[in-house]
Amino acid sequence: MQQFSLVIHGGAGTILKEDMSPALEQAYQVGMQEALDAGYKVLQNEGSAVDAIQTAIVILENNILFNAGRGSVFTKKGLQEMDAAIMDGASLEAGAVAAIRNVKNPIKLAAEVMLNSNHVFLSGKGANDFAIKQGVALAPDEYFYSQFRYDQWKAIRDSDAYSLDHTNHHLEELLKDKKFGTVGAVACDSKGNIAGATSTGGMTNKKYGRIGDSPLIGSGTYANNKTCAISCTGHGEMFIRSVAAYDVSCLMEYKGLSLQAAMEVVVHEKLIALNGEGGMIGVDAAGNTAMVFNSAGMYRAFQNSNGDSAIAIYK
Ligand code: ASP
Repeated sequence: MQQFSLVIHGGAGTILKEDMSPALEQAYQVGMQEALDAGYKVLQNEGSAVDAIQTAIVILENNILFNAGRGSVFTKKGLQEMDAAIMDGASLEAGAVAAIRNVKNPIKLAAEVMLNSNHVFLSGKGANDFAIKQGVALAPDEYFYSQFRYDQWKAIRDSDAYSLDHTNHHLEELLKDKKFGTVGAVACDSKGNIAGATSTGGMTNKKYGRIGDSPLIGSGTYANNKTCAISCTGHGEMFIRSVAAYDVSCLMEYKGLSLQAAMEVVVHEKLIALNGEGGMIGVDAAGNTAMVFNSAGMYRAFQNSNGDSAIAIYK
């Protein structure tokens, strides 16, 4: 029988047990469990991989703990600009949005681009106008405001530093809060179709207009039934330069590597060589799953129809 499976992530970075209170740790686990349960239910009901990952991501976007949708970090200008992408491995159709504002669930807009525009990638005002036209829900600035993200940004806004949600470059000591993250999901459904999606607020204090790896098909997000579905999280610039998600697919397609082996080459060799901190989750069309990262931690969880499941944060 075809195995089906779902994997989610909530971002990677310097996530250390000693920095985490038991209550916060539990809140993250509950947040991941909710998303996993909802997405997995779609698969159990013979829904598609695309629907399952979208369902899981909407829940993570609505959770203020994660740097996507509602919990998105602040840009250099003190606003939120969000990126998201989704790809269907069966048809190779994809939809992506970048630098969008006030869209409640960026992943829904990315799906709308995939299904109902003649394009793959919309950005900025054009993407926002498309959201309005398609009736995708918007939310006011207040919806995206959170005190801890504001404090996180305030600590570095007068510098040129920008930081991974969970990791701070240059100003480690100023940023106490390092525990939030980009979200992603990949799934293999009961028909053996796979899909991948990623949604993010990007990096704290990023320049306005900056686009990360998450919405770039092949860098932060990719899916192809022939090989794998991948969602990445980490220092986006290095994932773009590595074309990280597609590189996993290439290693599988052209070198015959397994999902796990291909992800390890990209995360532990190629990204490390560029100083690229982060990780990725993946599935293949047999329902195999993998979660690989080179940072101290990555919020991650998976479940499959063989009865295996896990939720983890640290190494
Ligand atoms: N990869 C994301 C970006 O660079 C950030 C993250 O994964 O936390 O926009």
